[in-house]
Amino acid sequence: MTAILSEETKMRDQIASVGKSLFDRGLTFGSTGNISARLTTGEMLMTPTNASLGSLEPERLSRFSAEGVWESGDNPTKEAFLHQCMYCRRTMSGAVVHLHSTHAVAVSILDGIDPDDVLPPLTAYYVMRVGTLPLVPYYPPGDASLAEAVAEKAADNHAVLLANHGPVVAGKTLLDAQYATEELEETAKLFLLLYGKPVRPLTPAQAAGLNAS
Ligand SMILES: [Zn+2]
Repeated sequence: MTAILSEETKMRDQIASVGKSLFDRGLTFGSTGNISARLTTGEMLMTPTNASLGSLEPERLSRFSAEGVWESGDNPTKEAFLHQCMYCRRTMSGAVVHLHSTHAVAVSILDGIDPDDVLPPLTAYYVMRVGTLPLVPYYPPGDASLAEAVAEKAADNHAVLLANHGPVVAGKTLLDAQYATEELEETAKLFLLLYGKPVRPLTPAQAAGLNAS
């Protein structure tokens, strides 16, 4: 019992610390963005609705049962279903990060991007941390069709980009999900810096030689 409590306490602190780090570096703003993590017991912790990731209180995080029922803590984010869609299709994932980060959102609004894989393999670390990034069509927030569309893409991808909205990224650990989200955002920034210029992404052979995480 002590070990279980200890894991939960550590995870609550880590979610608050990752949230502050993302907020302080401008990767999220206002009360946008949300973070969740799954405990080894199957229960899930999630950031609450209307909470700034910059000032999360660990003891107030929303807590869900292993069956996905909200049990305690503040009211969960209205985007809880995005996290649940990822976990239900990715049983090995231990955490999910969803942001409205500026460069990734900008790319999601560009006309003519490849909906099967939005960003080219510009760097090795992008290929290793993100890999393929499908675009999920736009649906209004809370639309049940958005949940279905995310679940469909999540079966084969740990990262998806919601059109005119932002990325949703799952990882084995919270740090994995955080780093992949940051790599995605920085690569979106590179993509915009290079937009309209001749570019030389990694070749298929170079990309295939890397171990996608
Ligand atoms: Zn969102």
